[in-house]
Amino acid sequence: MTIRSDEIISVLRREIEQFSTELKTVEAGVVLQCGDGIARVHGLPKAMAGDLVEFANGVRGYVLNLEEDNVGCLVLGSDEGIHEGDLVKDTEQILSVPVGRHLFGRVVNPLGQPIDGEGPIVPEAHQGVENSSPNIIQRQPVNEPLQTGIQAIDALIPIGKGQRELIIGDRQTGKTAIAIDTIINQKDKNVICIYVAIGQKMSTITQVVETLRHYGALDHTIVVAASASDPAPFQFIAPYSGCAMGEFFRDRGEHVLCIYDDLSKHAVAYRQISLLLRRPPGREAFPADIFYLHARLLERAAKLNAELGGGSLTALPIIETQAGDASAYIPTNVISITDGQIVLESALFNSGIRPAINAGLSVSRVGGNAQVKAMKKVAGPLRLELAQYRELAAFSQFTKDLDRATQDQLARGERLVELLKQPQYSPMSVEDQIVTILASTRGYTDHLDKREVLRYKKFMLKYLHQKHPEVMLTLRRDPVLNEEIEKRLIELIKEFTDSVYMLQYHAEELHKADEEQKKEKRTGKISLKD
Ligand code: ATP
Ligand code: MG
Repeated sequence: MTIRSDEIISVLRREIEQFSTELKTVEAGVVLQCGDGIARVHGLPKAMAGDLVEFANGVRGYVLNLEEDNVGCLVLGSDEGIHEGDLVKDTEQILSVPVGRHLFGRVVNPLGQPIDGEGPIVPEAHQGVENSSPNIIQRQPVNEPLQTGIQAIDALIPIGKGQRELIIGDRQTGKTAIAIDTIINQKDKNVICIYVAIGQKMSTITQVVETLRHYGALDHTIVVAASASDPAPFQFIAPYSGCAMGEFFRDRGEHVLCIYDDLSKHAVAYRQISLLLRRPPGREAFPADIFYLHARLLERAAKLNAELGGGSLTALPIIETQAGDASAYIPTNVISITDGQIVLESALFNSGIRPAINAGLSVSRVGGNAQVKAMKKVAGPLRLELAQYRELAAFSQFTKDLDRATQDQLARGERLVELLKQPQYSPMSVEDQIVTILASTRGYTDHLDKREVLRYKKFMLKYLHQKHPEVMLTLRRDPVLNEEIEKRLIELIKEFTDSVYMLQYHAEELHKADEEQKKEKRTGKISLKD
């Protein structure tokens, strides 16, 4: 090894230049009590709410409660190494997280530290976790669609960029599934996704990450995870951290989608913290500021005006209800904060209607303005027919003696319900959605068996994409349904319905019947037809 003196000198010189004899005083207090993720500290008279403090063992704390003789801090880490009498330093910083593109494809904890074992992250910058939301002047109305790829949502409950749409339903009704499908559909659409998992099992979070990876959607996604086994302070700050990571991109003119899965558990974690801090409990033992907790988070979703770059942050919070009770405390709070809700029901889910969206209770208060023109045009009749169907279906439960018009209406409705069924991980493009809805609302599925609708839809799209790609391409480029293109589409739908599909349908039916006969012969059963 050669020793180069000039190198050593330059290092020494740099050190000497930076040396200062200035004395710096830091305020320090002592721990009075610590446990359950909460520490009470005496002797920090200048501490402010939201300040970051450091305990003797290096673990950081977040000041939440200011009392006359002590401050209550959340311990951001393990509280095991913190003892009574330990020194606590005020760092004079606020809680911040690393932000930037290097976080894509990574799983981080609410402090932005990687937990996926793939090495350290080099952040572009740091951003405060709690930020104020954009004001009126900085915003503009929601005017761009955010396609979820789920036909029932894009047609009936459209979501716009910058909107806050609640996904609400009982356990196991497909809430997470909608969020994941939406993330998958943002692939190659220049929308950055942030999935915040709060209080879920680690195994569930791993599954979500693997699913995203499998569908190639992890490259534009950041996963912020505070699992059920993490302390309550972690679960409490998780959505704010995720939002801060999104705001970084929003303020640079990009489009961001934030999913908070779920805010019920977030509220429970906050209740735990509040009770431990001895704040007075209110309804359902939640503290008095529980509304502000979610309002200040969701207000940060916005569509910024053109001067600020026109970026957006769309929020999809998720709330779990108990036995469909949307009038409980937390659900009503979040419903009133958001711009609409997607209501999922166990009964629908169990009867095979998936996604189990209750189209009657679900609304989108602003997204309709952002829907593409062609979709708006075909979704109008769809909504009307479905509403009429629901009314008639409820009414006709009591009788089988129905007139022709009612029967037709019911048949149409049943087929529309079938049409809106969609398996997981199969997002549809807008033009596909438009064409299939057009076919169904114009009655081209009326003659089919109910169970055939999904197959009809599949074959029709295949047919159109193979035989008439130019029509689909026009619709994709310019999603307007003028008279000319509508006429052409109807022609093609008619052409398809009359020919190939029906031939294939009949051929398959014959084939099936043949197979059955053969099977019966083999098993020795005598067919009645022989
Ligand atoms: P939890 O309350 O446990 O968080 P959840 O409401 O988030 O549940 P999911 O985990 O999304 O529900 O879905 C529950 C189950 O339903 C999963 O096994 C999922 O695969 C299935 N499922 C969801 N959506 C669909 C769909 N459109 N088609 C078929 N199966 C679906
Ligand atoms: Mg879920």
